[in-house]
Amino acid sequence: MQTTITENQFNFVPTVCMLCGDSQTRPRYTITKYKQGDLTYVTCVRCGTAYQNPMPDQASMQDFYHSQNFFNAKRNSDLLTGYRDYDAEEVTRQINAKTRLSEIETLFPAEKKLRILKVACGYGTLVKLARDRGHQADGIDFSSVMVQGAKDRYNINLIEDDFVTHDFGDRKFDVVVLYGAINNFLRPLDVARKASSVLSAGGFYIVNHVWLNSFPEQLLKHRYWIYRPPIIGLYPKRAFEQYHVQLGFQLYRSRYDVQYLTCDKFFGYLQFALLIKLAELLRIHRRGFTIPIPGYARVFFQKPG
Ligand SMILES: [Zn+2]
Repeated sequence: MQTTITENQFNFVPTVCMLCGDSQTRPRYTITKYKQGDLTYVTCVRCGTAYQNPMPDQASMQDFYHSQNFFNAKRNSDLLTGYRDYDAEEVTRQINAKTRLSEIETLFPAEKKLRILKVACGYGTLVKLARDRGHQADGIDFSSVMVQGAKDRYNINLIEDDFVTHDFGDRKFDVVVLYGAINNFLRPLDVARKASSVLSAGGFYIVNHVWLNSFPEQLLKHRYWIYRPPIIGLYPKRAFEQYHVQLGFQLYRSRYDVQYLTCDKFFGYLQFALLIKLAELLRIHRRGFTIPIPGYARVFFQKPG
């Protein structure tokens, strides 16, 4: 892929809790090892959300998703900021897209062709698969690198824009899907409101997120893989669901997120650099397995019919 920026430095701005809007906080962790700047995580006293305060501004995030260290950590740093190797993980995404699409299909009558919108869709892996199965699928991503990548790889056109502000006209969808990205959004409830506005009655907003105070988070503390530049907020499971219900969604299903992972991605999550090297030595780093990811929830919200 073509990236123009090697590393970007964040511009930080003061903020309040993105779930409850409160400003009272307790210090949590300050992470000083990243070139994007010192990351200051605080805990909201009212709802328990952990978030960056000050948080990177929108322009910093935009630059980050075009930077090389987002796509490929190996080339210029041992620090994992975005992905170890985004392109090499496309196979993993294809496997995950299959199980995720099949799961979406079970929410509707058999054989029904669906209108699916994938937000932050990357190379459009799920969009491509859904179209191949006869669904009307679209993807939106604000990274021009992703949109170009989708064209090159799958010959599909994605919408290059910010989901929250994009004008969909009077288009409606049966499903809005957002995997692996809600913890990167500055205002997750704006995403939910937007999803609701483009869903048909009875439609689903499906989102996975890393929740707070999970076993790996408590074990690894500030070393947990999630405390890195693009992770803006971490939500307690219950609070995340409650604030979506307050927006008018019904909680349809909430469960562990099951994912296919390769060894190097799994060890990357846990920040076990030594294990990654060992796996590479043994040539098992690309071996994969499907597991419920600890501390990772997949939530199905339904717009009332
Ligand atoms: Zn809060």
